[in-house]
Amino acid sequence: MTAVSTTTVAWRGTEAETERLLAAVARICGCEFGPVRVRLSTCAAHQMLVEDQRAMNGLSFGKYSAARLRREEWATQTTPWQTTSND
Ligand SMILES: [Zn+2]
Repeated sequence: MTAVSTTTVAWRGTEAETERLLAAVARICGCEFGPVRVRLSTCAAHQMLVEDQRAMNGLSFGKYSAARLRREEWATQTTPWQTTSND
């Protein structure tokens, strides 16, 4: 008897974000294919897309946090809870 994965991974991205994700995975893909393009093994990146919800959640978090982090990196004013001293 062969174990079959029945997990479903959710990705909450726009169509453009999904296309960029798939293009990124295609660039680093290490899947092995046979002579008639039958997949012999699945690489870690493709495995993540279909089995690793935690990793996909991390990608979503990073995607939406990146813009905020860039803004904060270049902010010239500090917020009230920040300090400029070297205490
Ligand atoms: Zn692959």
